[in-house]
Amino acid sequence: MKIYNTLSKSKEEFIPLKEGEVKMYVCGPTVYNFIHIGNARPMIVFDTVRRYLEYKGYHVQYVSNFTDIDDKIIKRANEEGVDASRISERYIKECQKDMEGLNVEQATVNPLATQEIDGMLQMIRILIEKGHAYRAGDGTVYFRTKSFKEYGKLSHKNLEELQAGHREIKVAGEGAKEDDLDFVLWKPKKEGEPYWESEWCEGRPGWHIECSVMAKRYLGDEIDIHAGGEDLIFPHHENEIAQSEAANGKPFAKYWMHNAFLNIDNRKMSKSANNFFTVREISERYPLQVLRFFMLSAHYRSPLNFSSELIESSKNGLERILTAVDHLTYLLKEKEVSKCTEKERQTLLQAEEYKKKFETAMEDDFNTADAIAAIFELVKFVNTNSSAENSAEYLQALKDMLVLYCGILGIIAERKEELLDEEIEALIQERQLARKEKNFARADEIRKELIEKGIILEDTREGVKWKRS
Ligand code: AMP
Ligand code: ZN
Repeated sequence: MKIYNTLSKSKEEFIPLKEGEVKMYVCGPTVYNFIHIGNARPMIVFDTVRRYLEYKGYHVQYVSNFTDIDDKIIKRANEEGVDASRISERYIKECQKDMEGLNVEQATVNPLATQEIDGMLQMIRILIEKGHAYRAGDGTVYFRTKSFKEYGKLSHKNLEELQAGHREIKVAGEGAKEDDLDFVLWKPKKEGEPYWESEWCEGRPGWHIECSVMAKRYLGDEIDIHAGGEDLIFPHHENEIAQSEAANGKPFAKYWMHNAFLNIDNRKMSKSANNFFTVREISERYPLQVLRFFMLSAHYRSPLNFSSELIESSKNGLERILTAVDHLTYLLKEKEVSKCTEKERQTLLQAEEYKKKFETAMEDDFNTADAIAAIFELVKFVNTNSSAENSAEYLQALKDMLVLYCGILGIIAERKEELLDEEIEALIQERQLARKEKNFARADEIRKELIEKGIILEDTREGVKWKRS
């Protein structure tokens, strides 16, 4: 399996640090508002990478943070006259709802920056001890960039170029730095801002240090894959490398993966350019798996332009796949158990070709565009090679294939069967009876089953009420 590594600017064979295991860290969003669909691109893309690695049998530890302390969060909190934590808690919940809709698997851990301050203080102390960081007069602690000889190795910039660029964008008001390239590890609080005690000043961490610390705490000094959007290559990831490698004395991440932007009218979608759609807005018009399917219709390193035509066409494409699965479900419904004939066995072998195509695409730096093309070919094959004449075993095998490949992309190909009102009423009656008999396990089971089918129960004084979610 090949992965394009930003560090070497080439596709490399994937060899994990430890056989059978993958440690993966993905930079998560800053939570001051609803996430936009540009933010959803890395979530979907790297969740798909994880799913494919799991399909290959790797045990994946997947860590993705929430940046819950930052200027934008504080600004929003001040506008609303509430604590910064109120803002971040609210938007973490909203983000998690969106991620659930997008069928992003639960991370192994979702650390929060504000819960990891001790680790940050600790790493900053080590950097100071080793001569890689220093305290300026106003209490700001800076990383001494030139002390890390390999600085620039990820973004492929040399120090002189960087220095020239930096002089122009020097931020006014920063405490006296030794060098323009030095970046903040810890900064003094401003009036009305949340802060933490430290030996340097009452203040808060810089953005970059949080990821170095969270990756170390939950995955260790060396990890396999570090990922995020391409705007993070510089300075965020470059700085993470400098901090982690200087502090830990070990190479930080083996493979650096970066997704290209989601654009609108060929411009990056972003909050600051005010050209964005939130995931929530899209969810009002489309099931979110249409958005997921749309994101995966391009290779993750290619820019992707968002338009209503393209999302419509994703909707139609996905519908074609779901209809093929519906068709197989329909054929299977009334079928007695029956084994494959010899001819059917041969046909299934032919269908294996699409599995090969799918896997070859995914092995080539997760080319989901080609993987989806293989699924469409399989759909066509299924449509021309399945009928009421076929055996149940054969039809089931075709259906399993479609469901499996879609599942690796995080697409649920099998539509949920709608429960009829009478069926719901019957289950509710059974649950009431189970409760009366103190069989709470069964009662809970029924509740869960109903939730999975989109039915929400409400225990009221007048009895149990239900509605469809
Ligand atoms: P932020 O909340 O801005 O730190 O962004 C969270 C993640 O979304 C980062 O990995 C960004 O690189 C990524 N991101 C932000 N905007 C876009 C976009 N328009 N297209 C793709 N990725 C984006
Ligand atoms: Zn990060």
